[in-house]
Amino acid sequence: MTDQMRIMLPGPTPCPDASLRAMARPMINHRGKEFAAMLARILADLKWAYQTEHDVLIMTTSGTGALEAAVVNTLSPGDRVLGLVSGEFGKRFAKIAETYGAQVDTVEAVYGEPVIPEMVEARLKEGTPYQAVLVTHNETSTSILNPVGAIAQVIRRHLPDALILVDAVSGLGTSALPVDELDLDVVLAGAQKAFMIPPGLAFASVSPRAWRAFEKAKMPRFYFDFGKHRDFHAKGQTPWTPAISQFFALEESLKLLRAEGLEAIYQRHDQLMRLIRAGARALGLKLVVEDDRYASRAVTGIFPPEGISPAEFRKTLQARFGYVVAGGQGPLTDHIFRIGHLGYYDAADMLGMLAALEATLALMGARIQPGAAIAAAEAALREPVAAR
Ligand code: PLP
Repeated sequence: MTDQMRIMLPGPTPCPDASLRAMARPMINHRGKEFAAMLARILADLKWAYQTEHDVLIMTTSGTGALEAAVVNTLSPGDRVLGLVSGEFGKRFAKIAETYGAQVDTVEAVYGEPVIPEMVEARLKEGTPYQAVLVTHNETSTSILNPVGAIAQVIRRHLPDALILVDAVSGLGTSALPVDELDLDVVLAGAQKAFMIPPGLAFASVSPRAWRAFEKAKMPRFYFDFGKHRDFHAKGQTPWTPAISQFFALEESLKLLRAEGLEAIYQRHDQLMRLIRAGARALGLKLVVEDDRYASRAVTGIFPPEGISPAEFRKTLQARFGYVVAGGQGPLTDHIFRIGHLGYYDAADMLGMLAALEATLALMGARIQPGAAIAAAEAALREPVAAR
């Protein structure tokens, strides 16, 4: 037994010491100069992370709040909306739009597979004039990375004025998502994921097209009103009392991210993903996402060997080695476990995880070759690193 807690979840993730220490600072006036100066620095860094020249707004909420904000600020009851669903979070986004009165159709991928542009094209060819398309960048529940760029191109070809609303809660900062270049209208991200701070903040980029939609949108909104956030940000504030400690942490995490550089960040996540996939495959384990082209840079879903339940496996892994991995969600709940590898991780963290994975499976009686995962991961370490 160990009382260590080594979290390898797809959020919350470990946080750098500098970010955690910053949270212990005394409170400041959120309507004062210090906060305004910090907010300006943070917004500049977020625009860098988003690769956008347009507005980025910060809300004190979790990722789901950001999804709700995107919907209520851009749509009206009765609007036609197309939800692209490749897992539980795609379903949630569609459900939020439905809850506020949108007429939502869905294009659904088999769990473990992405929504591909051809599926979107086939639906849009039917000619429904959708006001918005809901896209999931990184579908955390299945560990799919959807091809957002290619999907956006198809949407723009058929519906030049439709809004593209993107759930990048767990994806932004793990693989390239150049928001302006892809002409994405509202892109949501969560601070407890690749931004390496404790939960409590979420972000939304807002394109000029989305601001035009905002002017006409009739869904009820108050706390999440984008206009209030824009106006208050312009004077160095947030409309409501923000999670000030989280802002302190965010500033520190963003400093580290900027020092690392976007390409290096994407390459690191690409490598971490490849180490976990190589290690799991070497143990004969089946991955939820078999096709490497669509493998998430943030999380990897894995089926344990026959006869070993994911819940028992996770319990033993934590009790013996302190590693905390996630279970499955939705229909995959009793079938898989998920290893998070987004945020403040490096290759050594993955080697430790794989060693514990091997040892736990061996302890539980699985027939695996000891050392196989580590050997495969070390081989993967020697491969050239490619960003995407
Ligand atoms: N969307 C995606 C893709 C996520 O991974 C998550 C959380 O894991 C959410 C939305 C919801 O975020 P939260 O749990 O912060 O509300």
